Amino acid sequence: MAVIPVDIAGRPYEVRVGAGLLAELVAQCRGRLRKRAVPVITDANVYAAWGPVVEASLRDSGHEPHWRVLPPGEQTKSWSELAATVNWLLDLEVERGDHIIALGGGVIGDLTGFCAAVVKRGCKFIQVPTTLLAQVDSSVGGKTAINTPAGKNLVGAFHQPSLVLADLSVLETLPMRELRAGYAEVVKYGLIDDADFFGWCDANGAAMLAGDSALREYAVAHSVSAKARIVAEDEFETTGRRALLNLGHTFGHALEAETGFSDRLLHGEAVALGMVLAARYSARRELMPRASAEHVAQHIGDVGLPASLAALGLDCDGAGLVRHMLHDKKMDAGTLPFLLMNGIGKTYLDKSVSLDDVAAFLDE
Ligand code: NAD
Ligand code: ZN
Repeated sequence: MAVIPVDIAGRPYEVRVGAGLLAELVAQCRGRLRKRAVPVITDANVYAAWGPVVEASLRDSGHEPHWRVLPPGEQTKSWSELAATVNWLLDLEVERGDHIIALGGGVIGDLTGFCAAVVKRGCKFIQVPTTLLAQVDSSVGGKTAINTPAGKNLVGAFHQPSLVLADLSVLETLPMRELRAGYAEVVKYGLIDDADFFGWCDANGAAMLAGDSALREYAVAHSVSAKARIVAEDEFETTGRRALLNLGHTFGHALEAETGFSDRLLHGEAVALGMVLAARYSARRELMPRASAEHVAQHIGDVGLPASLAALGLDCDGAGLVRHMLHDKKMDAGTLPFLLMNGIGKTYLDKSVSLDDVAAFLDE
């Protein structure tokens, strides 16, 4: 097992990465579960696959799990689920010192974290991420949110968990498509500021996806360390450092908007193609060697993620995609900061990108 210490503004917590953590959940929580009743929020898919393991682990240690099993999918991050779940927690008489368990992917983590941020003006929560994306990205760093009719993640709070338990065993039931989508965020850390780690991904990514457990542990632990380091430098995304984590997300978000945030394109798939587009656009601007941009595209394509607009079969033009970018929440006083690359592992925030130029690039 790997233990990654996270220290964000003097509020330390641990991320534990290893196989079999769910089966020893109470021991892993180390005294944090101070009452018999333990609220566990999850979705129906995760409950079907892993509910019995968590149930047995809690009951064997004398706890009584209170389950809230929500519908799977992005629509669960809503005002109505937030309200109903907060009321449910209040009915359970959750107190500030109590811990809520978030057992699921980013959807469950984001909703549960937001509930924990507002119940009694803030109670504690433990992230038990069950997708690769949640293990390497959303469960660490304290961003919580719901979606509203105006867009995704527009309402939320910064609220750090007090523990993250990333059990690698749960990935066994995760569909391969979801696993690959999460892998895009792993590659992202290499591209941001760690060329050696991109090299590791290039050499080991396919075997990691195929199931090698030592490689999985290394990929998750290394990604968590990278995220923890970047977030610790800029918790509230004010200096631009945390914004580096959005590499590929401006292009990706436009692609997600174009596909109506549907299952046609998963978030990680959109980010994968978004990173390829950021690399190719950087090469077009002669910021990075074309061979490096093609190296990125090659790796993304090799692991089965989309590496070109053509691969998606989307019927859209540059102007249409740029129109979606204008609604991006990162828009700042009429300009959209873009994450571009001076090379692999050399991502920087560029505030001088012309959206007309981006549209022309997308039409090439
Ligand atoms: P998700 O939570 O919707 O999970 C994907 C699918 O996998 C769901 O159908 C779920 O039921 C299923 N699933 C989860 N674990 C499983 C398992 N072990 N076995 C079988 N099926 C399983 O999606 P996600 O990709 O984990 O997260 C996406 C969400 O995360 C988005 O809402 C996004 O906005 C958010 N996010 C948040 C942050 C952050 O910093 N807070 C960062 C990145 C993404
Ligand atoms: Zn992402």
